[in-house]
Amino acid sequence: MIKAGDYYGDPKLVEVVVRGAPDALNWMIDEGGLKIRQVLSGGGGQTAFRVHISENSLGEPFCEALKKIGEKYGTKIRLGTKVTWIWRAEQEGPVLGVEVEKGKKKQNIAVKKGLVIASGGFGRDIKMRQAYNPSVVPEYNSTNQPGATGEMIRYAQAIGADAIQLNFIQLYPFGEAETGLLDPYQAYATRIGFGPIYVNKLGKRYVSELERRDVCARTQIKMGLKPTYVIMNYKQMVKVGGEKDLESGVAKGRFIKGDTIEELALKLNIPVPALVETVNNYNRNMKEGKDPEFNKKINKDMLPLDEGPFFALTAWPAVHFCCGGLRIDASAKVIDIWDKPIPRLFACGEVAGGVMGQTD
Ligand SMILES: Cc1cc2nc3c(=O)[nH]c(=O)nc-3n(C[C@H](O)[C@H](O)[C@H](O)COP(=O)(O)OP(=O)(O)OC[C@H]3O[C@@H](n4cnc5c(N)ncnc54)[C@H](O)[C@@H]3O)c2cc1C
Repeated sequence: MIKAGDYYGDPKLVEVVVRGAPDALNWMIDEGGLKIRQVLSGGGGQTAFRVHISENSLGEPFCEALKKIGEKYGTKIRLGTKVTWIWRAEQEGPVLGVEVEKGKKKQNIAVKKGLVIASGGFGRDIKMRQAYNPSVVPEYNSTNQPGATGEMIRYAQAIGADAIQLNFIQLYPFGEAETGLLDPYQAYATRIGFGPIYVNKLGKRYVSELERRDVCARTQIKMGLKPTYVIMNYKQMVKVGGEKDLESGVAKGRFIKGDTIEELALKLNIPVPALVETVNNYNRNMKEGKDPEFNKKINKDMLPLDEGPFFALTAWPAVHFCCGGLRIDASAKVIDIWDKPIPRLFACGEVAGGVMGQTD
């Protein structure tokens, strides 16, 4: 994890994540009723299969489990309620409470034991993105929900909190080209173990499909040819359990289908001979177990693109994850700009910086 973050992650925080993950998972299973599949999966950047998947493959059962645990211990959830300020006694004093807003009604809530900020990233906060990383231009879509804004970081800063690495904003290279959406259809773009290829509008591969997200996104942006495409075939998609998504994905226009590569190229408005040549070269590389063009490591699980039907997804970089955030110590206490913990203030999740490191 430290290496994948280009050594910018704080080893003490990384230690909490990697050593604490099994307990956190067991907690959700034992107390939250979470059900997971009895298989382990892997993803880009990982050296071993260590991903646990919920029964329905979504993230929502993990949230439901946490909600159930929270409610068991007396948590009251107020939906549609915005925090609009954090109150602190004085410069050295503890956090006293928060101001919240629901509709037109404002209210103050006192903090009894502690305030834990868990407000996520700021991928939808265009002004803040621009302030910390001008290269993340407003034109980029985001894979995030609309509430991924940065005001909680600013309120915490206003009472003395330090924030770090706010410029480390990850672009996901394969958001749906027009909307930035990353949903179960679009997720096929990164199921790279089974052998899909990434091509540009000219029908050429532009990167190794096993490359880091930042490398893929930078290459796409540098080419400037929007959109790019992910090309897969039926055999590959079925191998990763895609049979259930194929029909609806095609019906919704998310998977563009061609019975042959020629038909697919015509539908994508890509020069037919170029895409045919790219696919033929790729199939030959797979047979020979090498990739002279991009040096991709071919493995035995990868399937060639040698029979139809073929499917394509459109893809373009979209703001995905904010690696930076509030500075915390290993017990999640928020640290102030004078290097001292702010009494009663904690932060966790994406709003906390220094865990992920650089934006691979
Ligand atoms: C499409 C997608 C796919 C992803 N896939 C993966 C993956 O496979 N693996 C992985 O590890 N990570 C993945 N991530 C990243 C991961 O999901 C997030 O980093 C994580 O969910 C963040 O959790 P969180 O609880 O910190 O914040 P969030 O889940 O973002 O929750 C924060 C909540 O706080 C609310 N909020 C913000 N400001 C205020 C305010 N002022 N007042 C009140 N509420 C406020 C927000 O609206 C939001 O509801 C993915 C992210 C996306 C968008």
